[in-house]
Amino acid sequence: MDRIIRKSAIVLTFCLALVLMLFAPVFGPASAQAQDTIPFFQAGKIRVLILSGRNNHDWRSSTPFLRKVLVDSGRFDVRVEEEPVGITAATLAAYDLLVVDYEGPRWGDVTEKALEDFVNQGKGLVAVHGANYTFAGLEVLLDKHKPSGLKQPPWPEYLQMIGGWWTLGPPKTDHAPRHCFTVKFVDREHPITRGLPESFRTSDELYHSPQMLPAAHILATAFDDPANGGTGKDEPLMWTVNYGKGSVFYTALGHDLSAQQESGYVSTFTRAAEWAATGAVTLSADGKLPTQAPPPLRVLVVTGGHEYSTTFYTVFEGADDLHWEHAVSNHMAFKNDIRKDFDVLVLYDFSQEVSEAEKTNLRDFVEAGKGVVVLHHAIADYQDWDWWWKEVVGGKYLLKPDGSTPASTYLHGQEQCVRPIVSHPITARSRTMHLWDETYKGMWISPDVKVLLRSDAPTSDGPVAWISPYPKSRVVYIQLGHGETAHLYPAYRVLVQDAIRWTGGRLDAEKK
Ligand SMILES: [Zn+2]
Ligand SMILES: [Zn+2]
Repeated sequence: MDRIIRKSAIVLTFCLALVLMLFAPVFGPASAQAQDTIPFFQAGKIRVLILSGRNNHDWRSSTPFLRKVLVDSGRFDVRVEEEPVGITAATLAAYDLLVVDYEGPRWGDVTEKALEDFVNQGKGLVAVHGANYTFAGLEVLLDKHKPSGLKQPPWPEYLQMIGGWWTLGPPKTDHAPRHCFTVKFVDREHPITRGLPESFRTSDELYHSPQMLPAAHILATAFDDPANGGTGKDEPLMWTVNYGKGSVFYTALGHDLSAQQESGYVSTFTRAAEWAATGAVTLSADGKLPTQAPPPLRVLVVTGGHEYSTTFYTVFEGADDLHWEHAVSNHMAFKNDIRKDFDVLVLYDFSQEVSEAEKTNLRDFVEAGKGVVVLHHAIADYQDWDWWWKEVVGGKYLLKPDGSTPASTYLHGQEQCVRPIVSHPITARSRTMHLWDETYKGMWISPDVKVLLRSDAPTSDGPVAWISPYPKSRVVYIQLGHGETAHLYPAYRVLVQDAIRWTGGRLDAEKK
């Protein structure tokens, strides 16, 4: 018995070894490939950790915004830590830059030493707005903001790092009521400010009379108008500090989202983040990486004649390469020749009436080789215009019986799995979808369409997305999209966006 077990164990071990040997080459490259697909950090980007999670300002809105502008610049890969207490040097080791959007309790010896070493050894630090009084030991001063009080001693090394902080004075640091003022750059040769306009306007808090260190190099100031309760002086608002081998930037601006979204704030914050991490600035004046990307596709979205949920508009969100305008009726859309203004037409209307002039403009657009994406109920457009539904769309929802063919039918809210039946760039990212949406049945569908997607709902005809055989331009029909269950479904949004891109010639061209 014992021997049998041992023998089995040996055989099993051998089999396992064999299996591992067989699959090792597969597992090895496969896991490396997975890392390449979704890397831990994006290659070539500055690695940023935002320290947040407490503030007497609304960190729940400001921190995501700071993250977004950094990411949108194209230069940074950004993480957020909402509980900095306990972070060690090992946590920070992977990063190039820390952003402090924090006002709250001290972080403890280990974390604070780790942060000091991080900067001292040559990394970057950016602190924003209230982050220059969080560790200044100003419980009395801050009582007005925080009735519960924050009893803690100052963190001297942090204050050395940021170069200027709130003090009880005299004179006491504070700010006049929020108002509009002009921020002037006083050093326009620094990498952060070089090439920027000499000043910008903003609505924000204007901090005055900070305790400044001589080491702080001031980049921007603003006149603090005594008529608004200010000091009558030019107050420092942005500065840099060299701390050890590291670089620090502080901005007093950015009280809330409205202040943060000011173009002058976005520009200086992102450029300063790049400078603090690398010592140089490649971002342009708008705080974005210069790009060779083609201009966005110009999309005209046509609605009208049918109610719809406004969640429809969100389908285009997050697609910087699609710039869309909205015509609320087919008459508005086609009153002029639109060939020079748009690349892709997205029809989500429900229209029968169309003048000869409007027909001409629509036909000219389609015959010019532009893109057309027909969505959902727009399959019922122009029932009496045979050229449109037979040749261009390749399908028709019959609003009334046609001879012996009965009218088509619809049913709302049907659960369905929708799967691609051919490999195509339009469906490559959306793939199989599980959603609740309206189904159509009894449509006329051209035998010449290339069906992309098929629904398994018994109340559906089956084909729910296709490429029309129309030869002069790329025309795609997507039946899905009645309401918010589809509009808000991530794969549906990707499907529609990629259909627009493909009809506009922006996705890998695949033969129709
Ligand atoms: Zn504030
Ligand atoms: Zn519908």
